[in-house]
Amino acid sequence: MNKFAKVLALCFAAAAGQPVFAADCEFSIGTGDMLKFDVAEMSVSASCETVKVTLNHKGNLNANIMGHNWVLSKTADVQGVAADGMSAGAASGYIKAGDDRVIAATAIIGGGESTSVEFSVAQMAVGADYTFYCTFPGHSFVMQGKFNLTT
Ligand code: ZN
Repeated sequence: MNKFAKVLALCFAAAAGQPVFAADCEFSIGTGDMLKFDVAEMSVSASCETVKVTLNHKGNLNANIMGHNWVLSKTADVQGVAADGMSAGAASGYIKAGDDRVIAATAIIGGGESTSVEFSVAQMAVGADYTFYCTFPGHSFVMQGKFNLTT
C-alpha cells in the first residue's frame, strides 16, 4: 500500500515536472505521393529551447521517385538553397554540404518512412520571413509553407 502510494507520487511528480510549453515545440508534419505538406503554416514560439519537427511520408512511392524532406530557411534563400541542393544530388540529401542558409533540414524519405530534426530558434528573428519546403528536385516551388516565429 505504502509502496504503491510512493510510486504514484513519483509518477505525478514526473508529470508535473514537464515544461508547460513542451507540446508547442514539437511538430508532426505529414506528406504523401503529392507535392504537398499537410500543413500550410506553422507558428513556433521563440521560447522553445529546441524545436522538433517530425516528417511522416504516408505515401507509397520510393524516395528516389517521390522523396521529401523538410527544410527551413529565410524565404529569400529558398530558391538558392533548392538550386544548390539539386546540384548536390541525392547522395547529399539534396542539401549542399555546409549550407549556412539552411536553419534545419531532415533527410530525404520515401513512402512509409519518418524522419525528424531538432534545432534551436535562438538565431532566428521573431516576425522575420521564413519558409519551410522540400528540396527534392522540382518540389520547392509548390511544396512549401510559412514558418512564423512568435514571441
Ligand atoms: Zn518533396
